Amino acid sequence: MSEEIKTFGLDNDEIRGNQFTKYAGKKGEVHRCGIVYTDPKAMFVGTKVHYFQRYFICKKGLCCDKVGLAKYRIGAVLVKYATDNLGNPKKPFGYEILPWMFGEQTYTKLKTADSEFPLASHDIKISCTNEDYQNLDINSCRESIWQAKAELKESILAEAKHCWEWVKKGLASDLSVEEIKDLILGTQTSSEGAADPVAPVNLDDVLKSV
Ligand SMILES: [Zn+2]
Repeated sequence: MSEEIKTFGLDNDEIRGNQFTKYAGKKGEVHRCGIVYTDPKAMFVGTKVHYFQRYFICKKGLCCDKVGLAKYRIGAVLVKYATDNLGNPKKPFGYEILPWMFGEQTYTKLKTADSEFPLASHDIKISCTNEDYQNLDINSCRESIWQAKAELKESILAEAKHCWEWVKKGLASDLSVEEIKDLILGTQTSSEGAADPVAPVNLDDVLKSV
């Protein structure tokens, strides 16, 4: 697609900078959303990660020994409609495109919803039972609002592209084995050599943060 020069006022929603606010469920609010995709076989992106101060990709080694089992972290692009707190779309119609990142538990719930009402053609209502842990419940909707009108679908797909790239990159840090070692053991790779005693890691703290 070629970029063209155009004029506009302050109503240009395409200009949002490079940062996205990630989707988060809120207790007491039902959000109506759709998973935006171009290929139903590639609605999600995922990788096995650990959490230790931040998400990082499992490199099968020290990370698994020290931080525990690697778990899938999954990402998708959501269109979140402007709704009331029960998830009923507001007038005038509005939406946001948001990156969504979640764990295995939510994926399993999406899978269950999908088995009855394919996510490719049905929106979902997301309710949240615990904000801190993002424990979410998923209910299927009868239709997919963003796909109902060709024009809307087209502009949402175009908007989602950038977000999808961001999700793929933002899922977890791709650290080297050496960086993982530094992160977990708290050692500084320095000129002092490798003989320094390793700082003890409080595994209880680690487990709490998983
Ligand atoms: Zn690992």
